[in-house]
Amino acid sequence: MIPSEGTPENYAIGSPGDELTLARLDTFPISYRVAGRRIVIVGGDDEALAKARLAVKTSAEVVLFADAFEANFTGLDVTLVERGVEASDFENAALVFVADHGHEGARARGLAKAAGIPVNEVDVPEHCDFFTPAIIDRAPISIAISSEGDAPVLARLIRARIEALLSPGLGDLARLAGAMREKVTAAFSDGAARRRYYEALVTSPAIEKAIAAGQGAQMADALLEAHTADGQGQGVVWLIGAGPGAEDLLTLRAQRLLQEADVIVHDGLVPAAVIEMGRRDAERIAVGKAKGLHSFSQAQINTLVIRLAREGKRVARLKSGDPMVFGRAGEEITALRKAGIDYAIVPGVTAALAAAADTSTPVTLRKVSSGFVFATAHGAGNDDLNHWASLAASGLTLGLYMGKSVASQVAADLVDRGLDKATPVGVVVNAGRPDRVLYSGTLDGLAANSVTFAEGPAIIFIGDAVTHGNWAEAEKLAPPEFKVA
Ligand code: SAH
Repeated sequence: MIPSEGTPENYAIGSPGDELTLARLDTFPISYRVAGRRIVIVGGDDEALAKARLAVKTSAEVVLFADAFEANFTGLDVTLVERGVEASDFENAALVFVADHGHEGARARGLAKAAGIPVNEVDVPEHCDFFTPAIIDRAPISIAISSEGDAPVLARLIRARIEALLSPGLGDLARLAGAMREKVTAAFSDGAARRRYYEALVTSPAIEKAIAAGQGAQMADALLEAHTADGQGQGVVWLIGAGPGAEDLLTLRAQRLLQEADVIVHDGLVPAAVIEMGRRDAERIAVGKAKGLHSFSQAQINTLVIRLAREGKRVARLKSGDPMVFGRAGEEITALRKAGIDYAIVPGVTAALAAAADTSTPVTLRKVSSGFVFATAHGAGNDDLNHWASLAASGLTLGLYMGKSVASQVAADLVDRGLDKATPVGVVVNAGRPDRVLYSGTLDGLAANSVTFAEGPAIIFIGDAVTHGNWAEAEKLAPPEFKVA
């Protein structure tokens, strides 16, 4: 669902139904315990061998059944049984792979089904209760990439990319964290403090080297002491800009802090995909005001955020665009300062700059526009309009926020105040998103209000710099059009 235009207190639309438009998985990724049990493989050719190689990564007993074993299984810790599989062979079996597409395979599948054991028939998705993902193995850490049987080649390419990102020492690091569990539980009663410790441990730049040198445990202990001395840890609030709505326009810092946050308090214009980037167990609180939905006043938001931080939580206060631009950050910062709470601001791509990028419009341009003014059209008074008219006349580019519903009035007012009717105008609805829509024309055309703008928040550019952008795909406002520079 596309959010619609609004004011700073009222620009939230993201509805609880948003996620319904996402494709759903037909399989549920889990890590399934096979220790102490048996994995049965039916078949003796290369397909069976490939599955055997996968199965021996686990500690399960791997047993293959075939009339003949054509592939070379030497060196693999498996048991080869030269006969057809029987019902009793499935006792204590956790999983069954069928690498025989003939009569014997079908019989094996029937037996496994009767015994209630999940079956995978190699390369026959419709005969599979489960799929084998591409696996990244850093035991005890494993990463499984699955395409539900649709695109195994793509899954393998993704695996290669992730492999390159992960250090070979990851498993040892996980083991070290696991070995610290009792001490950490004893040191901190509070879950947030424990989490802070583990984060410091696993992100410590020196830890992997220390492990390699046999010093990992000492370093983990020293870190624990330092954390205990610090006390239970104070909460913090990060005011984070989420950008205009595309996930990949989020900064790396924003992404990292979202991962660290215990609570994510977000406005309505922030897309679900960005909110999803937080930790799975982080609490998420929507405070944006959608029409017809319960809404928070600014004072309630301030109180909420301060209460959470006082509980020792790390709060990601997620706002669309840049938090310092029409985001009521000023009020929140004042309240946090008064309450003595630590805070930090993480900038984001503000809507007007996303709109400039979308349309290749330089908002400053030598000899054309010596600067830009980003202003809110909502509630603009006489003085504002006089002011903007003279700024635009002097060659600055205007970027108006929250102006869609009053666009034609603002255009007419600017003309009344002496701004040239032929001043170029460009409008970007849903800037920075795949569903953006562009409009171009002149101030006169905007005043005549000839088009119905698409659903969604909009930026209105006014000024000569607009003609230097690429508005080729724009729907035209009422004539006359501006001449492309
Ligand atoms: N802090 C935000 C602005 C919030 S005020 C920022 O820096 O972008 C809400 C207004 O921002 C909307 O009325 C609209 O004018 C603008 N806006 C927000 N997201 C937008 C988008 N993706 N495309 C165009 N305009 C957007």
